[in-house]
Amino acid sequence: MNKAYIVKCKCGGMVAAVMDNPNHKEDTAKEVAGCIQAGYTVERVDCEVVRNTEWCKCKPQKSKGTLPLNDGSSSPERSRI
Ligand SMILES: [Zn+2]
Repeated sequence: MNKAYIVKCKCGGMVAAVMDNPNHKEDTAKEVAGCIQAGYTVERVDCEVVRNTEWCKCKPQKSKGTLPLNDGSSSPERSRI
């Protein structure tokens, strides 16, 4: 069974998923570390779980080519200002 890292928002939705590919271990580790630093929860799960997890609905999806809106709700930086 393939494994993946699932990046979760506070709402419980998924904001990203990174396949745990042994050939790209360093890239995966970097990606995961970056997500944790950004304040997201990262879990290691079966790929099957990724397919069954709802996407986060806090932000508009990137697929429409719109710029990501920063409404501050997901920005850990804001609390320091
Ligand atoms: Zn969310």
